[in-house]
Amino acid sequence: MKEFAYRRATDVDEALRLAAAGGDTRFLGGGTNLVDLMKNGVEAPERLIDVRFLPLGGISETSGGGMLLGATTTNSDIAAHPDIRRRYPALSQAILAGASGQLRNMATAAGNLLQRTRCGYFADPSEPCNRRAPGSGCGALAGEHHNHAILDWSPSCVATHPSDMAVALAAFDAHVRYQTMEGAGALPLSRFYLPVGDSPHEETALPGHALITGIALPSVTPTLRSRYRKVRERASYAFATVSVAAALEVLEGRILDVRIALGGVASQPWRARVAEDMVRDAAADAELFRAAADAELSAARPLRDNAYKVTLARNLITTVLTELAASERL
Ligand SMILES: Cc1cc2nc3c(=O)[nH]c(=O)nc-3n(C[C@H](O)[C@H](O)[C@H](O)COP(=O)(O)OP(=O)(O)OC[C@H]3O[C@@H](n4cnc5c(N)ncnc54)[C@H](O)[C@@H]3O)c2cc1C
Ligand code: SF4
Repeated sequence: MKEFAYRRATDVDEALRLAAAGGDTRFLGGGTNLVDLMKNGVEAPERLIDVRFLPLGGISETSGGGMLLGATTTNSDIAAHPDIRRRYPALSQAILAGASGQLRNMATAAGNLLQRTRCGYFADPSEPCNRRAPGSGCGALAGEHHNHAILDWSPSCVATHPSDMAVALAAFDAHVRYQTMEGAGALPLSRFYLPVGDSPHEETALPGHALITGIALPSVTPTLRSRYRKVRERASYAFATVSVAAALEVLEGRILDVRIALGGVASQPWRARVAEDMVRDAAADAELFRAAADAELSAARPLRDNAYKVTLARNLITTVLTELAASERL
């Protein structure tokens, strides 16, 4: 591992000043992704600014009736919080479907959003990878890509985003709050990750040296039911092959509100708006859910070895919506 300097910031201003002071600097959350990548030479910052001890932890109610997740709150604390479990169960389930208990105890909310892709070519500095080394090519496009994207990829990069938590946050229309030397800002999750395009190394719309300070969840009606389901290659310690975060509000058999987000299929959480539009205001029905999933996935462009993900995604969307509709009738 390349030598690096370490500083523990004591307040947000100090963290921002240190980050803007020049050189290749990174904020350090739980370190469960960044330090791994430094060990294998994918990341080589000159300076780490440890932000875990800033006053950015905890979970609170917002003035609008939503919830604010502090940037340094651990994944475990978010998943276990009684209000998150009660009001945003898909978020708690998504976090618990990822990594392991030990990792979730270390990993922070901000670090989870900014974790890098799990594409094997990205993790191996001897391989071509436009995301790691712009202009070097994409090893996965003609190589090993059975677990890569089926939606919205570009010839520059066919990787998926690995976060389970981000998929649930997309379904709940979360906003990411950040701070720079110029002031505070916020990005809806739908604009937080950049489309992959020709520049896969540019991953988010965050301004340079921005410190994520929190994630805001809008309020939800008490009758909105939500669920996260993840298909993966083994029962634990594996990233999503395909996952779905869905939320449904049904009144007397009619769908008032629906949110569907997919993981494991694109370079960012995929909000299934075509399917949502077909289902909203209609009568809850498994056939309709299947047709809506088909309509959404008509945009899929599977690679040579991952067409199975289209079937998987269709079945997962149909199953989760059907289960949620049935739970409304209980
Ligand atoms: C074996 C293994 C299995 C895993 N399985 C899963 C899984 O199934 N599903 C899943 O979703 N995840 C999984 N993970 C990933 C895990 O969730 C992430 O490693 C973790 O969430 C990253 O959080 P962190 O705080 O440790 O981030 P770090 O590693 O500290 O940082 C990650 C990135 O975020 C940046 N950063 C951190 N905090 C801030 C901030 N406040 N503002 C701006 N930038 C910041 C860092 O500079 C870095 O670029 C797995 C990890 C491992 C090692
Ligand atoms: S899919 Fe993306 S991350 Fe993987 S090798 Fe290609 S450019 Fe790199």
